[in-house]
Amino acid sequence: MSTSPEIRSRIVWDYAPAPESPDHVRLRDSYGLFVDGDFRDPVDGTRVPTLNPATEEPVAEIAFAGPADLRRAVEAGRRAQPGWAALSGLERGKYLFRIARLIQERARELAIVESLDGGKPVRESRDVDVPLAAAHFFHYAGWADKLAYGVGGRAVEPLGVAAQIVPWNFPLLMAAWKLAPALACGNTSVLKPAETTPLTALLLAEILQEAELPPGVVSIVPGDGAAGAALVRQPDIDKVAFTGSTGVGKDIQAALAGRGVSLTLELGGKSANIVFEDAALDQAVEGIVNGIFFNQGHVCCAGSRLLIQESVADTVIGKLWERMGRLRVGDPLDKNTDVGAINSLEQLERIRSLVSAGEEEGAVRRSIACELPERGWWFAPTVFTEVAPAHRIAVEEIFGPVVSVLTFRTQAEAIEKANNSTYGLAAGIWTDKGAKAFEVASALQAGVVWQNTYNHFDPTAAFGGYKESGFGREGGPAGLRPYLRVT
Ligand code: NDP
Repeated sequence: MSTSPEIRSRIVWDYAPAPESPDHVRLRDSYGLFVDGDFRDPVDGTRVPTLNPATEEPVAEIAFAGPADLRRAVEAGRRAQPGWAALSGLERGKYLFRIARLIQERARELAIVESLDGGKPVRESRDVDVPLAAAHFFHYAGWADKLAYGVGGRAVEPLGVAAQIVPWNFPLLMAAWKLAPALACGNTSVLKPAETTPLTALLLAEILQEAELPPGVVSIVPGDGAAGAALVRQPDIDKVAFTGSTGVGKDIQAALAGRGVSLTLELGGKSANIVFEDAALDQAVEGIVNGIFFNQGHVCCAGSRLLIQESVADTVIGKLWERMGRLRVGDPLDKNTDVGAINSLEQLERIRSLVSAGEEEGAVRRSIACELPERGWWFAPTVFTEVAPAHRIAVEEIFGPVVSVLTFRTQAEAIEKANNSTYGLAAGIWTDKGAKAFEVASALQAGVVWQNTYNHFDPTAAFGGYKESGFGREGGPAGLRPYLRVT
């Protein structure tokens, strides 16, 4: 007997749990600061547990750097820098290749630890974060002996010691984005991971040891916001590269004013994902889901403002709601999980407060019904309709699994609404017409524009923002420039 396609599509498949086992992961009980080639006790820092956001249980104890520790790390970077820069590009490249291969060898362990420490689904850590981190090292390993080609054949030299601060949403991947180009160009680095997600950076420190990277070329100093603020104020640094919130980015810019320290800022976003009526709508719905629910929406370029052409708005919202109902929220270590835990209680409260503001301002909220675990920090995937451009949920970065829907009638209106933001990090365009996509893309004030896809990253492509989303580019040959003095 044949089943009609309509009935078949209504079958709801249930999944057996498919937990990834953390048994083979050998974490230490306590991690020191990685300074001058070794793990060391903090001089004037503290020790703090890092928590699993899905259980609120401690995963390991982490040393946090104090001012003297930061100074020591910068001094180690200063001592190591001339020797590192004096190596031929080919030799520096060999180290980067080795690091990339070691990341690949320890991929499974890194993926599990990323999910344990940060709450993201292991499917994402395994398929996105870790392979891309290795790919960034491979990519810049290839550039290390071709630097002049990356900047139009001009003579280049490294800047010196880089202070690099990364956030908690892609801990290992952001460390790779920062370290790979800095090292390829002959700089040394002091890297500060985020307070809530230091673990994979510390495993990376073990990898650097195994790769026999000369001591001091990279120091990894976990710490809180105060440590980040103190690091950028160290007198003997030549470069700051920061990824995080716009507020902190502005503070860093002010702190560096007049000091002749080069700066790259990769800040927040409120990116528009634009669906035209001629788009393949089912494909667009998958892109909307990937755009906002990937990594619980903790993504600087998340497609958090969904702009739908009015003629297809009801259809797209209906399909989106149905698709959202099939998202599996829960244990980050379950390979079937689509949406994991919110990274910290602080971030959960920020999401809750903006969602309440959305309701108070009159937008219509729908959150999917799902059983959320009792312990840990969770937020059900949510869509807001009836959103006005001035609502806080259409203006401010929520950084959670929450999408705000606005509509438009014409292409010009779509462009105007998309650009109506203080941010300008990314955008998505869904249309079947190539010419329209190019026309709209060139009118958008966004550093990255995806056509008929979203949240796709590639180490060969430049990534970075317009307006309050920051400046400087990471990835590809453009990512060399912020780490070089071009003469
Ligand atoms: P922050 O900008 O505070 O954190 C990013 C990094 O900067 C972390 O390592 C942090 O350390 C460090 N830091 C904090 N304060 C300072 C300072 N004064 N000087 C130098 N470094 C500092 O982001 P939050 O974690 O507070 O998140 C707040 C909001 O920022 C989110 O809701 C989201 O909207 C946005 N955000 C955007 C990101 C992006 O990729 N564009 C990434 C993360 C957040 P510590 O972790 O110890 O605080």
